[in-house]
Amino acid sequence: MAFDNNDSHGNQRVESCINCLSETPHRVTIELRTESPTNDNAVFSREPYRVSRCPMCETTTSQRMNNG
Ligand SMILES: [Zn+2]
Repeated sequence: MAFDNNDSHGNQRVESCINCLSETPHRVTIELRTESPTNDNAVFSREPYRVSRCPMCETTTSQRMNNG
């Protein structure tokens, strides 16, 4: 069995980095982040965020996946 020597621990996408100002293979992961509502009695909501990290400069950009 031959496997490609790709990093299989995460999804990699070539995206433009705001810091490098060039396109780099970002590591893309999904994070669940707890958002604290303004109402103390409200149930904490966990929202999925898409987090991409540039391997060159370690800059991470997170983007909320659900709008609403
Ligand atoms: Zn970068």
